Amino acid sequence: MSLTFEDVQAQVDRYISQFKEGYFPPLLMLARLTEEVGEVARVLAHQNGKTPKPGEDVGDLELELADLLFVMVCMANERGLSLEQGFTRMMHKIETRDADRWTKKDA
Ligand SMILES: [Mg+2]
Repeated sequence: MSLTFEDVQAQVDRYISQFKEGYFPPLLMLARLTEEVGEVARVLAHQNGKTPKPGEDVGDLELELADLLFVMVCMANERGLSLEQGFTRMMHKIETRDADRWTKKDA
């Protein structure tokens, strides 16, 4: 399966559009984003030495990253932003501004 940013944004929009509530307001989405970042942190902590609480599993990093992505897609959709365009702009930024920042591997 191969998904473009456009596919993902459209899929999330179809999902959200079924509901009268629609997208959360921006600050509530920011709260959800923060919550999901915390869930990513919890999984990484469990994978790096922290013992889960009794009854708590280690967690699923792939799923937690997808949860985070879902909220980011919701934020972009609610604002009418293109993640493809944003990602392309971000890559251009790091490939130019940071071109000499890191040590290149030998060819
Ligand atoms: Mg989560």
